[in-house]
Amino acid sequence: MRFIKIALFFIATVSSFHLKMYAQNDKLFTVVIDAGHGGKDPGNRGNKYYEKKIVLNIALKTGAILEKEKGVNVVYTRKSDKYVTLNGRASVANKAKADLFVSIHCDAHNSNAYGAGTFVLGLHRNQDNFRISQKENAVIFLEDNYEQEYDGFDPNNPESVISLVLMQEDYLNQSIEAANYIQQSFVKNLKRKNRTVKQAGFLVLRNTYMPSVLVETGFLTNSKEGAYLNSKRGQTEISRAIAKAIMEYKSSLYGTLFTGLVMDTAPDKITSATSTNSSAAATAFRIQIAASTKKMALKPYNFKGLTDVSRIKTGSLYRYYYGSFSSYKSARKAISTLVKKGYKGAYIKAFEGNNEVSITHEMKSK
Ligand SMILES: [Zn+2]
Repeated sequence: MRFIKIALFFIATVSSFHLKMYAQNDKLFTVVIDAGHGGKDPGNRGNKYYEKKIVLNIALKTGAILEKEKGVNVVYTRKSDKYVTLNGRASVANKAKADLFVSIHCDAHNSNAYGAGTFVLGLHRNQDNFRISQKENAVIFLEDNYEQEYDGFDPNNPESVISLVLMQEDYLNQSIEAANYIQQSFVKNLKRKNRTVKQAGFLVLRNTYMPSVLVETGFLTNSKEGAYLNSKRGQTEISRAIAKAIMEYKSSLYGTLFTGLVMDTAPDKITSATSTNSSAAATAFRIQIAASTKKMALKPYNFKGLTDVSRIKTGSLYRYYYGSFSSYKSARKAISTLVKKGYKGAYIKAFEGNNEVSITHEMKSK
């Protein structure tokens, strides 16, 4: 009889755990898919292809896949061969209160360059990144009042971009995370040449109030890659890779919320009936404060005065962590200080050595 009681209790806790998981995962996730160019702006014409047509096909296919996913709301900046201004695209995303903005493009170059790259807004650290953003920004010359509309921004001046950068800073970490999922998906699933996650001054990413990325799916100017991008098969494969990455980003986001982001203020009602496992003793908790493709020195001036910062590299991404706590609760206490310092997205991760492990309910209760 006693055994039965324990078993019932266990089943009850497990099912409430799943209910909570379900509730978190069920939150509507809005993604804006932005097909670059359109209408009077053909985009690049590498090998006589039309960037505007190819990216529209990829955008619609990506959206169609995501629309079938539960809890995903897809919004498009254009669904036909229509001209939309860069600010117009951002305002579609802001009105939708989107969780993610993904702008889709194809690159062009006078060499045989090929491969896929994903960008977030930032200072371009080299001429090549500047060239790509310059090309995508040049579209504003088609707008009559571009000087007022873009605050005197000059796409041809590398210095002009600096004014853009700070505006997306709050979303930079998450933008890089999303970009990383897309880039990894291209490389892992499609074996595309990895042009990595980079930062550059793309105007279309400037005015969005959410994590935002720009995907350069490949080079139309490369004869092999151009033909692939223009083919039905290529467009289908790329769409699948992007959609898969967006779903992975979505679950990482809600996984994070679930495992104790600062916003999660609901008290922990769930206790585990099987908390006899003592292996959790080896677990340490660190607080992720930043993620970047840039390797930064672990000096206080790079981290708003924080001293206890560590760095772990995964793929092309450096993640920066504050502290090392023996219990989840003590890590949680430290978060409020970090938020006051301006690390609004700070969240807890669990490690065994340098290996990240998922946070369990047992860990949270200690
Ligand atoms: Zn483009």
